Parts: sequence; structure tokens; C-alpha cells
Amino acid sequence: MSLKVAIIGRPNVGKSTLFNRLVGKKLALVDDQPGVTRDRRYGKARLGDMSFDIIDTAGLEEAFDNSVEGMMRQQSEKAFEECDVALFLIDARAGLTPLDNHFADWLRKREKPVYVIANKHEGRDQDPGLYEAYGLGLGDVAPISAEHGLGIELLYDMLEPHWKEWKDRERVARQHAREAAQEALDEARADSLADEDFDDDDGFADDEGEVFPSYEIEFSEDDEDEDGELIVEGARDNSKIQLAIVGRPNAGKSTLLNQLLGEERVMTGPQAGLTRDSIAVDWSYEGRPIRLVDTAGMRRKKKIDDRVEKLSVADTLRVIRYAQVVVLMLDATNTLDKQDLTIARMVLEEGRALIIAVNKWDAIIDKKGVMQELRDKLDTSFAQAKGIPVLTFSALTGRGTDRLMPTVLDIHDIWSRRIPTSQLNRWLEATTERHLPPVISGRRIRLRYMTQAKSRPPSFFINCSKAAELPESYTRYLINGLREDFDMPGVPIRIYLRSSD
Ligand code: GDP
Ligand code: GDP
Repeated sequence: MSLKVAIIGRPNVGKSTLFNRLVGKKLALVDDQPGVTRDRRYGKARLGDMSFDIIDTAGLEEAFDNSVEGMMRQQSEKAFEECDVALFLIDARAGLTPLDNHFADWLRKREKPVYVIANKHEGRDQDPGLYEAYGLGLGDVAPISAEHGLGIELLYDMLEPHWKEWKDRERVARQHAREAAQEALDEARADSLADEDFDDDDGFADDEGEVFPSYEIEFSEDDEDEDGELIVEGARDNSKIQLAIVGRPNAGKSTLLNQLLGEERVMTGPQAGLTRDSIAVDWSYEGRPIRLVDTAGMRRKKKIDDRVEKLSVADTLRVIRYAQVVVLMLDATNTLDKQDLTIARMVLEEGRALIIAVNKWDAIIDKKGVMQELRDKLDTSFAQAKGIPVLTFSALTGRGTDRLMPTVLDIHDIWSRRIPTSQLNRWLEATTERHLPPVISGRRIRLRYMTQAKSRPPSFFINCSKAAELPESYTRYLINGLREDFDMPGVPIRIYLRSSD
């Protein structure tokens, strides 16, 4: 017995692909031809610490006449009847089709919990289906890519309450069963007081009522998909953190790495999906798996070329894209220059979490003055990510480097944060009241409601009248407010405004 989750949706939206990802085996046949998978299939899915039964309803049109009603009647209806929760898949890239709308109408009339999953969303914010999906009236939408394993943690967040509820129900049921058994046992005992062989410990009360013993949250079972691409999203708690250390040549990256990894350094060789000469190191910090994705410092260097080695923007950008948290290393004996600012900007534009590490602090005499200058420069250059953590240390002596990894873990948490819709809406109301949005041609712009579209980085949808007219300064006010009120310093925060009129 398990929680039962059904995947529902028209052909070709990626149901089988999601099924496969959750089940972790290549059970279903996936193909571009609609309806390639023919049956309702069942699998045991695992998502972090949750395990549940999953029912796939691919291949609907195979079984009936082409009428929409007919298609829904059989497989979907059966699966839906059986399940506790349904995931309604749409194709974010293609947008909604009439068939999707029919499904939505049908699902809206049912009592069971349904979640809209906008699949095939691979980081394109403009996917039409994503926005349309919010208009379906089926609540929150999770943008994911089943194929690339992106956004899977959103599914976790959606399913977790149901799983917990199911576990509680199961626990109560077991408790009842145990009590009934105990009663039966008492009766039996009363009936046969003389029976010496009776063993009252036998067969009952086998555990504490825990349905699942112990678990570790772990999504990173396969952290590379078939294309060899590193999966950046899809993890929480004990997931692997993808960390990059970037910076100009001679900033001290290799020195820091040696300091961090010490003797434990494990070279895993070039990882698929990175460039051929890139290297990733798998490592763990206080039990937390860390993948250090390429830094120039990890490569064997031709010492002579060092001084003239130019920082390649393209290389750096590629590294940033593979990382979740990026440590930008500065050389304290060199001032923050344009290249450094360019890298920092790229990190934030790519939506990654940024830490600034000022190295060679041992060589600085006027520590206060240098720090002040740096802070000023950062604050003027990066209003969009106020509160970026700035650390100073000496990679050479190791002094201060112990603060780096705790900072990485902290900022990764913030970067992954999810805020419940109810809290956001309360916040939106208070924030827009404190500082009213402007009046445009006689009418005040109204910000109606708000939901978190995704984390990593924290991104929000706000439904708004005349979205195009809302001044940039007001969006900045909202972003700064979010950062303050929900305590999210140092990470990029995104707001998408949508107009419903
Ligand atoms: P089903 O008919 O709903 O079960 O859809 P499938 O799982 O067979 O997928 C249909 C097509 O969409 C296949 O070519 C998949 O490779 C593709 N597909 C599924 N998920 C994704 C995704 O997340 N991103 C992209 N780009 N393609 C996907
Ligand atoms: P990379 O090119 O960024 O990998 O830099 P390296 O780690 O090779 O360091 C470049 C130079 O800076 C080397 O000569 C290091 O010894 C020196 N260096 C690195 N860290 C420190 C530090 O904390 N203090 C001082 N004084 N020198 C450092």
C-alpha cells in the first residue's frame, strides 16, 4: 500500500518521460509519435524520502474513437479513480491545446487534488504554456523538465503534504489493526487460559507504527541524464551542491582548492557535458556532497604562461552555468576591476548564488580601508543583489578559509527557498499598501496576487493590471522588500508580472 499518484494529460506532453524519471527505470517506451505507450502502467516512484505508486496513462487515443470524451473515459478515468493525487501534465513549450482545456474542465469538476505540471520547461521564461497554465484555474503550476530532471523538487513540494497525510492515515489504520489484534489476542487468552504455548508477542505490534523506517533525502541518484548534462535543479537537503570557484588568473584558486580539499582530493576526470579540458571534483563537506565544477585552477598549469593567461569570458560563463553557487575570487592586492565586475554580473544574470572571496588578506595592511572600498564598489555595482556575502581570507595560510563552506551551504539554502503562496499574498497586500503602485491614465495599477514560480533562484509571478506600465522602480521596491522580509540576502530574485486584462 502506498500513496497513488496518476499522471494525466494529452498525448506527447511527456507523461512517460516523467514516469521513467520518477520510477528510475526505462520501463516505458518514449517516442515522438503520440501514443506510443499503450497501457496504463504502474511503477514504484521514489522522490527524495518519499515513495509512492505512480500510474501513467499514456497512449490514450489508442484505445478509442477519437472523441475527447471517449479518450478521457477509459484510461484517465480509471487512473483518476484509483489515485489519491493527480499530476496534470501540459507542454509548456507548445502551449495549451483544446484537448488540454478539455482535460482541465474535466479535472476541475472532480474533488481530488490535481496539480498542473508544465513540462518541457528548460529555462525559457517565455514558454507560453507556463503562463496559460496559471489560467486553468487548477492552482499552482510547477514548471519542470522531465527529460532533463529540472524542477523535480517542485513535484516533491506538491506531493509531500499528501504523502505525509497518507502516512498519518496509514499509521492510524495500523494502530486500529493492532488494537483489533490485541483484542483478538485478549479474547483468545481468555478462552484458553490453560494454553501454556500461547505466545502473546507473536505476530503483533511489529513496530512503532512507522510505515517507513528511516530515510535520507537524496535526489541525486543519477545526476547526469542521458545527454550527459549535469542536472542543476532537482535537489534539496542532502542534494549535491554544484560549486564553482572562478576568478582572474593568480587570484589563488588552486591554492584555495588545495586548502579545501587537502589530501582528500579526488579527481573524477572530465565529466560529460563539460568541455573536454574541464574537470569536476566530487567531494563532501560535513556529509554534504559537493561537486566542484571546473575552475582553471584545477587544471595543470603551464607555469610560464600564468602571468599572461587571459580570463576567458566564454569559459567562465560555461562554468557558471554548470554551477549553483559561484565563488568569485578576488586578489586583495589588486583592486576590483572591470573583469571581476563582469563575472559577478554574469553570475547574477544567470541566476546563480554568488559569494565574493577576497584572497591574500594576509598581504593587506590597511584591512579596513580595503574592505570599505570594496563594499562601496559592490553596493553601487550590484543593487540587484544587496547583501552578497563577502569573505576575506588567506588561501595560503588557511586563515579564514573555514568560513567559506558554511557560507556556501547557507546561500544555497536561500537560493533554493520556497515561500508558500498564502504568505506571499499577505506580504503583497501589506507591501502594496505601504507604498501604493502608481496611477496610470486615471487608474491605479493593481497587483492582485502572487505565487512563487520556482526556486533557484527564487522567482515569483505577480498578477497585475497593466503589467507593462508598472515602473521598474516599483519592481525593484518589491524585490528589495522580498529580500528583506523573507531574509534572502545575496541571491538574485526575479519577478514576472502577468496581466490578466
Ligand atoms: P507522453 O505521450 O505524454 O507519454 O509523452 P512522452 O513521454 O512519450 O514524450 C513525448 C515527447 O516529448 C518525447 O519526444 C520526449 O522525448 C519529449 N519530452 C518529454 N519530456 C520532455 C522535456 O522535459 N523536455 C523536452 N524538450 N522534451 C520532452
Ligand atoms: P590561480 O591562478 O587563481 O589558481 O592562483 P594560484 O593558486 O596559482 O595562486 C597564484 C599566486 O598567488 C601563487 O603564487 C600563490 O602562492 C599566491 N597566493 C595564493 N593565495 C595566497 C594568499 O592567500 N596570500 C598570498 N600572499 N599569496 C597567495
